[in-house]
Amino acid sequence: MFLSLLLFLFTLIAILVAILVVPFLRRHLISRFVLKFYNKILPPISQTEREALDAGTVWWEGELFSGKPDWDKLLVYPKPELTPEEKAFLEGPVEELCAMLNEWQITHELQDLPPHVWQFIKDNGFFGLIIPKSYGGYGFSALAHSEVVMKISSRSGTAAVTVMVPNSLGPAELLLHYGTEEQKNYYLPRLAKGIEVPCFALTGPDAGSDAGSIPDFGIVCRSEYNGQSDVLGMKVTWEKRYITLGPVATLLGLAFRLRDPDHLLGGEVDLGITLALIPTNTPGVNIGRRHFPLNGAFQNGPNSGKDVFIPMEWIIGGQERVGQGWRMLMNSLAAGRSISLPATSTGAAKLAARTSGAYGRVRVQFKTPVGFFEGVEEALARIAGNTYMMDAARIMTAGAVDLGEKPSVISAIVKYHLTERSRQAINDAMDIHGGKGICMGPSNYLARTYQQIPVGITVEGANILTRTMIIFGQGAIRGHPYVLQEINAAHLADKKKGLIAFDHALAGHVTFSIRNVYRSLLLGIGGKYLKNHPDSALADTIPYYQQLTRFSAAFALLTDIAMLTLGGSLKRKERLSARLGDILSMLYLCSATLKKFENDGQPVADLPLLHWSIQDALYRTQQAFDEFLSNFPGHFLIRIWLRWQVFPLGKRCSPPSDELSHRIARLILEPGEVRERLTAGIYVPTDDNEPLAQLEQALSCAINCEPIEARLRAATKEGQLTAKGDGKIAQAVALNLISAEEAVLLDKMKILRRRVIMVDDFTPSFD
Ligand SMILES: Cc1cc2nc3c(=O)[nH]c(=O)nc-3n(C[C@H](O)[C@H](O)[C@H](O)COP(=O)(O)OP(=O)(O)OC[C@H]3O[C@@H](n4cnc5c(N)ncnc54)[C@H](O)[C@@H]3O)c2cc1C
Repeated sequence: MFLSLLLFLFTLIAILVAILVVPFLRRHLISRFVLKFYNKILPPISQTEREALDAGTVWWEGELFSGKPDWDKLLVYPKPELTPEEKAFLEGPVEELCAMLNEWQITHELQDLPPHVWQFIKDNGFFGLIIPKSYGGYGFSALAHSEVVMKISSRSGTAAVTVMVPNSLGPAELLLHYGTEEQKNYYLPRLAKGIEVPCFALTGPDAGSDAGSIPDFGIVCRSEYNGQSDVLGMKVTWEKRYITLGPVATLLGLAFRLRDPDHLLGGEVDLGITLALIPTNTPGVNIGRRHFPLNGAFQNGPNSGKDVFIPMEWIIGGQERVGQGWRMLMNSLAAGRSISLPATSTGAAKLAARTSGAYGRVRVQFKTPVGFFEGVEEALARIAGNTYMMDAARIMTAGAVDLGEKPSVISAIVKYHLTERSRQAINDAMDIHGGKGICMGPSNYLARTYQQIPVGITVEGANILTRTMIIFGQGAIRGHPYVLQEINAAHLADKKKGLIAFDHALAGHVTFSIRNVYRSLLLGIGGKYLKNHPDSALADTIPYYQQLTRFSAAFALLTDIAMLTLGGSLKRKERLSARLGDILSMLYLCSATLKKFENDGQPVADLPLLHWSIQDALYRTQQAFDEFLSNFPGHFLIRIWLRWQVFPLGKRCSPPSDELSHRIARLILEPGEVRERLTAGIYVPTDDNEPLAQLEQALSCAINCEPIEARLRAATKEGQLTAKGDGKIAQAVALNLISAEEAVLLDKMKILRRRVIMVDDFTPSFD
C-alpha cells in the first residue's frame, strides 16, 4: 500500500515536471490557457500607443527591471567627456553669447532677443550643434549640446529656449534620421548657418497631451504647383498653437493626419500621421502672431492654414515615410527629451545653488548670516543635494545618447524628475532670497527663472501625465525582460508561432518571478551580507549599492504582481503606476549619482552631497513602496504577503539627518572646490557691474570679514567698543582692536553687502 502511494506520488511529480520542462506539453497544457487569459487582461493598445511603446531603446533601466542590476556594467560605461573642440566652443562663442545677454532687457524692454544677439546666434552656428560637419554644422556630442544649453540657461531662459529648440525635436533632428538625401543636402546646411529658422508644430487647441489625436489633416490630390500642372501632393488644413520659434520661423515642421480618399497613392484611405516641412512663405500659411508665455521673451505662437497645397517631396523622408510621423516623432523625442530640459533644469538648479549659498552668507539678520540658521540650512541642503543628483542624471543620460541609445523611458524619467527638482531648487532659492528674489529689475538674477519653471514642467510631455502614465507604463513594457516578448507573441497573426513564442517568454517570466520572490525577501533580510556592489566601490557607498539591489528585486516583484492582478486596469490606476514609476526613477537617479561619484574619481569632499542625495532618494523610494502597498487593491492576504516580501525587517531608510544637511549647506555657503564642482558649467560673469559678479565678490569678502566682525561684537559686549554706526570701525582701530587693513576690508564689505542686498526701484509710473 505504502509502495503504491509512493509510486503514485512519484508518477505525479514526474508528470508535473514533464509538463513544466517539455515545451510541447507545457505549451498545450499551460501556456495555451495562460495566453487566453493574457489576451483578456491585456489592455487595448492603439496604433499610436504601440508606436510610442516601440520608440527608442532600452538601456540601464533594463537592468533595474531585472531585479539584479549589474553594477560593474554601470561603471564600465565610458565617462562622458567633451572634445577639445567642444570645450573651445563653450569657452569661446558660448561665453561671448552669455556676456551679450541681458535678461531684463530681453524680457522686459524688448520682449525679444536684440537683433545683434539673433545674428550672433545664427552666425556662430548655434542652430547647428547637432548637424554633422559634412552638412556645415558642428556635429557635437549630446554632452556638449547639454553643456551649451545649460550654460546659456543659467544666463537667459529666452536665449536657452531659442538655441535648444532647433537642436532638439525640430526639423534638423527629423531630417537627420529620416530626410531624403535631397532634403538633407538642401536644408541641413541652411539650418546650420541660421539661414532657416525652424519650428515644429504638433500641438493644437484640441490636441495637447493627447497629441496622437490631432485633427489637422491633409488630403492627397493633384494640383497645379510652381507652373506645373498635375503635381502629386496634398492640401493641408491645420490649426496649431504654443509653437516655439513659430512667429519668426522660416521653416515649419508640421504634423497632420494624411488621407487618400481617391487612392492616388494606391493604398488605404487613412494613411496616419505624417510630417512635412513647409516654408512659411508658402501661400496660405498663417503665421506671425505670438503668445506671451509667463514673461519669457522667446518666440512662441499659433499658426494655421487651410487647404494649403504642398507637393509630395515636402514630406520628411518623401512618399515612403507617409504615415510614419508618429514613430519618427517618438524616436526623436526619446533622444531630444534626454538632453534639452535636463540641461535647462540643471542650469537653473546650479544657479540656485551658487546664488543662494552666496546670498545666505552675505545677507545678515539677527547679527548672523541667514544661511547659518537651521531653517535656511534645510533649504540650502535641499538645493545642493538635488543639484548634485540632477547633474549626475543629466550627464549620464547625455552619455547614453552619445553611446547611440535613444533611451525613451529614461528620457521621461529625467524630463519629469529634473524639471520637478529644478522647481524645488528655484522655490527654495526664492525663499532664501526673500524680497530680493521678488522685486523685479535688472539686478534680480532669479525671478525670470522662477517664472519660467512651469514651461519646462508642461512641454515635451506634461509632468503629471509623464509621471502617472509614461514612466512606468512604458517602462514596464519596454524595460521588463519578458513583457514585450509576451505582448508581441500575443499579437502574432500566426497563432501557432504566437503560442510557441508566448510559451518561451512565459517560461522565462515564471523563472524570473520566482527568483525575485526569494531574492527580494533574502536581500531584505540579509542584503548587507551579500556582495552586491562593484569591487571598486568605496566603503561609504557599498550600503547604497546593496539597498538599490534589494529595492530593484522588490520592484521587479511588485511589477509582476501588479500586472498579473490588475492587468489592463493598471493603465487607469495612474496613482499606483506613478508610485512604481517613482521607484524606477529613484533607482535610476541613484545609479547616475553613484556613477558620477566614480567618474569624478571618488572625491571624498563630495561625499556629503552623495550621501544626502542618495539617502533622500532611498527614503522616497521606501515611501513609494509603502504607499503602493497601502493602496494596492488586491486581497488583504496578498497585501500582507507583499509587505512582508518588501519590508521583512520593517522600513529602515531614514531621510538625511540634520547634521548631514548642516554639512552640505556649509559646502555652498563658502567658496571652495565642492561649490565649484557642484555649479560647474554655468555662466559666472566677472564684470564688476554684473549682479552675480558682485555677489561672488561679496561672498569672499564676507568670509574674510567674519572673524573681524566677531571681534567687534565681542568688544562691544565687553563694553570696550561704545561707538555706534560708522564710528565703530574708527574706534576699533584707535583701540588697536583691528588693524588699518582690517578696517579697509570692513568698509569694503559694507559697500559690497549693500550692493547685493539692494533691489531695483522705478518711478511710480515705471517710466
Ligand atoms: C511655452 C510652450 C512651448 C511649447 N512649444 C511647443 C512646440 O514647439 N511645438 C509643439 O508642438 N508644442 C509645443 N508646446 C505644447 C506642449 O507640448 C503642450 O502644452 C503639452 O503637450 C500639454 O498640452 P496642453 O497644454 O494642451 O495640456 P493638456 O493636455 O490640456 O493637459 C492638462 C493637464 O492634464 C494632464 N493630463 C492630460 N492627460 C492626462 C492623463 N492621461 N493622465 C494624467 N494627466 C493627464 C497634463 O499632465 C496636464 O497637467 C509648447 C507649450 C508651451 C506652453
